[in-house]
Amino acid sequence: MATTAATSANWKPAAVHAISSGMATAHKHTHKEHEGEALIDAAKRSLEDQGERWTGMRAEVFEELAKHSRPVSAYDIAENLSNQRGSRVAPNSVYRILDIFVRNNLANRIESANAFLVNSHPGCRHDCIFLICDDCGAADHIDDDRLTGALREAGQGAGYAEVRPVVELRGMCGACAK
Ligand SMILES: [Zn+2]
Ligand SMILES: [Zn+2]
Ligand SMILES: [Zn+2]
Repeated sequence: MATTAATSANWKPAAVHAISSGMATAHKHTHKEHEGEALIDAAKRSLEDQGERWTGMRAEVFEELAKHSRPVSAYDIAENLSNQRGSRVAPNSVYRILDIFVRNNLANRIESANAFLVNSHPGCRHDCIFLICDDCGAADHIDDDRLTGALREAGQGAGYAEVRPVVELRGMCGACAK
């Protein structure tokens, strides 16, 4: 469980950063964001550390997912992999792998888009807050444990267990707003 930070007495606000800009402010822990080959390596290491195997198929799905900066559906990933291989990859098997990735912090599910986004910090658990552009579909994310920690506490205060904040902000990205 990653909720302990929110309740500890000396808890301080954690990372606030954005994928696209690369800007980062004070971190209370060593927060690492990866891209390209380094992201694939970090994902593999993280998955294996959690006792899951990094199979050929999982590697293919991850690499395909990591190519997309916008939320992508299991169906689209299956179609792209099918084209690359020249043989059909079933969306269901892709979906099952994405599910494993989400559980193990390698990918995030974007509820409002019914699609998936690669997680650039596989070794580091946060309740990512997503920003999605209504115009072009671009997606960014910020990690603000102070905000999501307050939501977790509110949910727990209302008597819910295993509270998991799902926070998505819709709007216009910087480029579209110009
Ligand atoms: Zn972090
Ligand atoms: Zn995040
Ligand atoms: Zn946009």
